[in-house]
Amino acid sequence: MSAAPEAPPDGVPYPTGTMANEPVPGRPATTPAPSAAPGSSAATERAAIPAGTDAASPAARPTPHSRALGLRAALLFPDRDIVERFYLPVVYTACRTCYSELEPDEIFRRAVSGRVAVEKQQELARRVIESGHGSTIEHIVFTFGISGATRTLTHQLVRHRVGVAFDQQSQRYVNFRSPAYAVPATLQEAPADLRERYVAGMDGALELYGELLGAGVPGEDARFVMPNATRTNLVMTVNFRELIHISGLRLCTMAQWEIRRLFQLIRHEIFGVSPFLGSFLAPKCVPMGYCDESGNRDGHCRIRPHRDEVLAAWAEKRDAARRAAGG
Ligand SMILES: Cc1cc2nc3c(=O)[nH]c(=O)nc-3n(C[C@H](O)[C@H](O)[C@H](O)COP(=O)(O)OP(=O)(O)OC[C@H]3O[C@@H](n4cnc5c(N)ncnc54)[C@H](O)[C@@H]3O)c2cc1C
Repeated sequence: MSAAPEAPPDGVPYPTGTMANEPVPGRPATTPAPSAAPGSSAATERAAIPAGTDAASPAARPTPHSRALGLRAALLFPDRDIVERFYLPVVYTACRTCYSELEPDEIFRRAVSGRVAVEKQQELARRVIESGHGSTIEHIVFTFGISGATRTLTHQLVRHRVGVAFDQQSQRYVNFRSPAYAVPATLQEAPADLRERYVAGMDGALELYGELLGAGVPGEDARFVMPNATRTNLVMTVNFRELIHISGLRLCTMAQWEIRRLFQLIRHEIFGVSPFLGSFLAPKCVPMGYCDESGNRDGHCRIRPHRDEVLAAWAEKRDAARRAAGG
């Protein structure tokens, strides 16, 4: 039974074993060169959510609202320098404090000064994380600027409640001059008449929004005509434990494509500041070793075997052992 890891579009394959800290093929073993400024390396989506102006088809001609923003995820804080200097030492200190007579500030000083080798810090951190002692990685947080996401995506994203904070562009307080919307790839490829009706429907709704504002209807009420496809911006700060958890759910091939794409971009951003930390962001089946999604009982996703397959193989082995023992 083969369980070939899927190569995500950012080119970094998921680990083949448990969560690995080995160098990732195609990536430098050490942290890559820093970006010019925090946030400037923002991972940007262009292909998965083509907006009207991107496409050559007549139905995708520029309209007032379908301008190409693209889904973007920029790691605002911390930058690579801070991650390299302090993040691993903070996690190491949290882990080590549990097993040491030393005081935390002394452990931290030794880690930051290099008296404790980075490899040793990584080894302890990896062992503790893989053992499920997740509080040790709640001490480090990441802040992302997310832009060009649809309301469809953000409605799913803000369902995560623990260890994560959101601040989202308000449709109540912002009177949009030209709200933008997304045209999903399936609609780009739909029969021309359906695609045109979709674009006309979006444009019509958003033109009505402008007319309502012009007539003095408050933004908080005019927004009622805005579709799920409307694009929006938000800031998300998340601790690393929750980032691993959310990534496990949203990098799964069963997740909705736009939110899955967002977490591929986020994974790319984390790899940019720390390949070690980035290696923990994977579909949940990767650390578990099997897939627990009922929608994958047919085994169409091969990142990991389905639980049913694993249990069937285990039962077969158990029965064979019983038979061999004459039971
Ligand atoms: C593929 C997919 C499809 C989905 N489809 C739907 C759908 O059709 N309809 C729908 O409404 N939602 C849907 N969801 C959303 C889903 O039900 C969760 O609300 C969402 O993923 C948030 O995850 P979480 O509960 O792990 O929350 P998080 O805030 O990320 O929680 C992290 C973890 O903390 C613990 N935790 C959090 N809160 C509590 C609590 N109150 N009590 C005890 N433990 C807690 C849990 O262990 C939880 O896993 C879907 C999600 C996915 C990934």
